Amino acid sequence: MKAEPAVQRQLLDLAKVDAELNRVAHRRRTLPELAEIENAEKLLRERRDALVAVQTSASDLEREVVKQEREVESVRARAERDRTLMQSGSVSAKQLTDLEHELTTLARRQSALEDDQLELMERKEAVDTDVQRTAAEVDRAERELADAATRRDEALADLDTTQARRDADRERLVPALPENLVALYERVLAHKGIGAALLRARRCGACQLELDRSTIAEIKAAPEDEVVQCDNCGAILVRTLESGL
Ligand SMILES: [Zn+2]
Repeated sequence: MKAEPAVQRQLLDLAKVDAELNRVAHRRRTLPELAEIENAEKLLRERRDALVAVQTSASDLEREVVKQEREVESVRARAERDRTLMQSGSVSAKQLTDLEHELTTLARRQSALEDDQLELMERKEAVDTDVQRTAAEVDRAERELADAATRRDEALADLDTTQARRDADRERLVPALPENLVALYERVLAHKGIGAALLRARRCGACQLELDRSTIAEIKAAPEDEVVQCDNCGAILVRTLESGL
């Protein structure tokens, strides 16, 4: 394939644009914010699960507290009724003894229930503290996730800007080049990642391999409008004064 040296040198501009487009694509896939977001989402899920668990414990305890209060209340009411009955003077001596006996039992029961209630309240207090702490952790995880997402979006917007500029460069450069040269360039680019490079100091600018003596001799002997490629990586080797020929 033939192309004027000046045309071949334009391939270097195109290669520079494509190298940057490659960097943009690579950066898009490897933004640190992506891993950060993944971790933040995982953490948020865990904390939300933990919050549901402690909230469930809290409402279970709440129900128990209510039940306990109702029980204490019914014991109190029963004792109250017994006392009213005793004071009414309308009960027999036998009934009086029974009532006194029942009041003693009820007092013991009430005291036991109140002890339980105290313990229950302490547990409830601890679980409520847990709920508050876990809810704060959920809030923090949500903020961290939102923050990482904002930074990711900013980074992507920057990449979009760079990409738009380089795409425009490409649209300007490609039509100025011969079609068959561009086709060769694109083919090598698609397979090897670099379509053209400068031959500098006998080294391929794409794969960095130092060319051997006989290859250098061949390139030196080739007409300057001959399109030469690296034997190793296939990149179009653009010759300039820096090529060391
Ligand atoms: Zn090479």
